[in-house]
Amino acid sequence: MFDKKTTCLVVVGSQWGDEGKGKLVDVLAERADFVVRYQGGANAGHTVVIGDSQFVLRQIPSGILHPRVTCVIGNGVVLEPENLFAELDQLRDRGIDTTGRIFVSDRAHLVLPYHKLLDAASERSQKLGTTGRGIGPAYEDKYGRRGIRVTDLRRIECAEHLLTDRVDRANRLLEMMGSGDRARYEDHLELLQRLAPRLLPLAADTGLMVHRAIRAGRRVLLEGAQGALLDVDHGTYPYVTSSNTTAGGAAVGAGIGPTAVNGVLGVVKAYTTRVGNGPLPTEAESPAGERLRELGGEFGAVTGRPRRCGWFDATVVRYAARVNGLTGLAVTKLDVLDSFAEIPVGIAYRLDGESCEEMPAEVEALGRVLPIYEVRPGWQQPTGAARRLADLPSAARAYLDRLEALSGVPVRYVSVGTRRDQIIEV
Ligand code: GDP
Repeated sequence: MFDKKTTCLVVVGSQWGDEGKGKLVDVLAERADFVVRYQGGANAGHTVVIGDSQFVLRQIPSGILHPRVTCVIGNGVVLEPENLFAELDQLRDRGIDTTGRIFVSDRAHLVLPYHKLLDAASERSQKLGTTGRGIGPAYEDKYGRRGIRVTDLRRIECAEHLLTDRVDRANRLLEMMGSGDRARYEDHLELLQRLAPRLLPLAADTGLMVHRAIRAGRRVLLEGAQGALLDVDHGTYPYVTSSNTTAGGAAVGAGIGPTAVNGVLGVVKAYTTRVGNGPLPTEAESPAGERLRELGGEFGAVTGRPRRCGWFDATVVRYAARVNGLTGLAVTKLDVLDSFAEIPVGIAYRLDGESCEEMPAEVEALGRVLPIYEVRPGWQQPTGAARRLADLPSAARAYLDRLEALSGVPVRYVSVGTRRDQIIEV
């Protein structure tokens, strides 16, 4: 999708996450100079398969696998430094040199061990299906104006002062929540002192770097985590993540102005999945749901949790198209549907006997909607070797045409397998 007019492209998940953004970013990064993560934390697991190697990247943009690309962890991300270092070590051990190619915004907030304790305690009472990695509490601290940022490590004595206050506060909260866990100030201090020498050399005003790159005509890819329906404003609240996953969040979280962005690619599976709790209107009953899960390998990249599986939901994707301003669609995992004789597609909902074409605000109403299905004929042939639309069986092309018409966004990419080369550019 990069061309003369499109040099700053956002890639966003347009369902409930896990759409295969990692693979799309990997494919697009080949033509990019910069890849920037703009929100979320180590809860997002992108999986990229190259040859026989599988890389699971939680914080580092998957663009790192291309030697020419500079990767940025933007100010909108909440950073878990130890996990970042583990990822850097994993890459180094597998022969990927990241020196001088990865930068972390000095304005990014840190996720510290006390955030994880708070996350575990609140998950016990709130049951939102979080990954327990402290992301939610770290964002709470950011907006509560008591976060600790990467730049604070530059003056460790300030960080020490902040820490005493934050650890005390976390322990009071843990007590209130009935948790027996406690955070230790000494452990946190030791951690920050250990992290600083490795983290600070990567710290930079990354918004400025990206701004300069765009002005110089370089190609920049802004990589979202999770999906539109998990956006804190537009998702199925409260079963959402703690940040703006949608394209508007990309400019804020990368530290550039919204007018710099000139394309938004929405990644969708050819069906639908969701991890954790909350409504999933087109959830398939077994055995079809289980078949999708097995064929699609629908188990969380970070947690191993089985994903709930169902049919393509056009109401969700139309909504995602609107709130993201999508200019193109990438349909992934088409091959997972290869063996189905019939493929239902959710075209709208019925809510309390009335037809409903837009997403209701209340999660409880979304839990009550009944999907209206249109049943499409399957193709019952393998698609994994297709490299052009013309290589696909006609029923598969008709299926894609229907998804395009229902969502109102042109299909620009179709992914037909896990490998890098298993992609069709339309
Ligand atoms: P992300 O967070 O959106 O990148 O999604 P995940 O990485 O959690 O999930 C995507 C999974 O689907 C990974 O295991 C990919 O290797 C796999 N995948 C991506 N595209 C395709 C595809 O077209 N077909 C199949 N079968 N698997 C795919």
